[in-house]
Amino acid sequence: MAVDKQQYLSDKLTQMAESATIKMAQQAREMKAQGHDVISLSLGEPDFDTPEHIKKAAKQALDDGYTKYTPVPGLLELREAICEKFKRDNNLDYSPSQIVVSNGAKQSIANLCLALLNPGDEVIVFSPFWVSYRDIVSFAGGVPVPVHGSIDADFKVTAEQLDAAITSKTKAILFSSPCNPTGSVYTHDELAALVTIIDKYDDLFIISDEIYEHINFTEAHASIGTFPEVKDQTITINGMSKGFSMTGWRIGYMGAPEWIAEACAKVQGQFTSGASAFGQKAAAVALQSDLKPTYEMKAAFLKRKQLVKDLLNDIPGVVSNDPKGAFYFFPDISSYFGKSDGPVTITDANSFAEVILHQAHVAVVSGSAFGDPNCFRLSYASSEENLIEALTRIKRTLSKFS
Ligand code: PMP
Ligand code: GLU
Repeated sequence: MAVDKQQYLSDKLTQMAESATIKMAQQAREMKAQGHDVISLSLGEPDFDTPEHIKKAAKQALDDGYTKYTPVPGLLELREAICEKFKRDNNLDYSPSQIVVSNGAKQSIANLCLALLNPGDEVIVFSPFWVSYRDIVSFAGGVPVPVHGSIDADFKVTAEQLDAAITSKTKAILFSSPCNPTGSVYTHDELAALVTIIDKYDDLFIISDEIYEHINFTEAHASIGTFPEVKDQTITINGMSKGFSMTGWRIGYMGAPEWIAEACAKVQGQFTSGASAFGQKAAAVALQSDLKPTYEMKAAFLKRKQLVKDLLNDIPGVVSNDPKGAFYFFPDISSYFGKSDGPVTITDANSFAEVILHQAHVAVVSGSAFGDPNCFRLSYASSEENLIEALTRIKRTLSKFS
């Protein structure tokens, strides 16, 4: 019997978009495999190897027999190390029973949405947003409500905008700072302004994604959970992927009110169980070690940021903010909409990304997936040599469009 595959798949799945970052990275890999010289600036992944002492800790853990299931919320020693880290780096007070270690921050967010959301519950998502937020919220039955920060406001959402967006159905607010894709960083004062609004509602939760905390060029990372008014409403998300260049290890974590942590552990216990045992051992070592390798990576990102900023400024019609963290630029390229090189016309950010991929052989991601169809995202987690070549190609390609 032939099955109509599209009909057969669940509505939930067919309504879910494929991750645009992962899709573009895959497209770039396929083009490379076909022999094209593609520079991929699509995936947000540090290009550095995991620091040696962390790899050594994982090898040691394997030799020591850390090859079995762990408690679902994570090994106690890692949860203790996370509590120390939260206190040391963020001035956040959590106890081990408030920590859930997961298979990446992505899973932490999914656990939370599955644990908190009933059909129709609204989640205010600060826009531009990281691609997966919208689909995770929807998949969990919630309704993502984007609230947009304009490029003139450094892509940040104001307290007034937040106030206006809250309805009786709003259950949570979700944002990242430093932000993927804009690199914007909310200052302590900007968070304080948001807190004055959120404080009016006891049943509103803040999901604060701080996975880029270590890639913050302002040297002043602020955690919204430090505000006593909203501490019991805040879930702080973090992970090892970005600050420690451990994307493939799949270790993330959250700090949350205990009852929410328990709910998330319940979800995770049915889906995946605890994260890998030796990965957790290595993560504990990473969090407790000197952060020199992390600071060195940050210094390299800052240097590349300046480089890319200058190169972008040199391309007519490309408008950018000045990212203060993470490793992305999110330039507005709407001045190219309607421009053509003869056979091809750039109509929107999607066709812009297609042109850059097929003509410049540089993979970037359309801003549509991040909630801003005037922009594209470029990850500068790549070598200076690659970045210079990529931006030169982009400039050359765009010069043909008028
Ligand atoms: N949050 C943000 C803002 C991200 O950019 C990413 C992508 N790495 C994640 C969460 C998920 O990170 P991971 O699952 O690798 O810990
Ligand atoms: N978070 C990274 C990005 O935005 C990795 C890809 C993903 O997990 O979507 O590119």
